[in-house]
Amino acid sequence: MHELSLMEGMVQGIQEEALRRGFTRVHQVRLEVGRLAGVEVEALRFAFGPTTEGTVLEGALLEILELPGQGLCQACGQTVEVEARFDLCPVCGEGFVALTSGTEMRVKDLDVD
Ligand SMILES: [Zn+2]
Repeated sequence: MHELSLMEGMVQGIQEEALRRGFTRVHQVRLEVGRLAGVEVEALRFAFGPTTEGTVLEGALLEILELPGQGLCQACGQTVEVEARFDLCPVCGEGFVALTSGTEMRVKDLDVD
């Protein structure tokens, strides 16, 4: 499962940050996940428990903030919301929309000890 390896990567990143910054426990983690990131939010939630066992994240609350997809139309220059990759511009009905957000998954913040 794709989300499981994403979650493992995130947990590993936070473990490394825990060593660097010297915290030992995370109470809450907030993730930002773009609608166009190709990530199933429910699968992420499901992966969180088993992946965080025995780490600084064990027992932490997971909050996931979904970000809308957004892009810049190369034909009319408008910033538009997009539902899916390769959607046409909803304003002018044509044009390639260069995505500017909604494809990312990142840790927004951590509440730690
Ligand atoms: Zn357009």
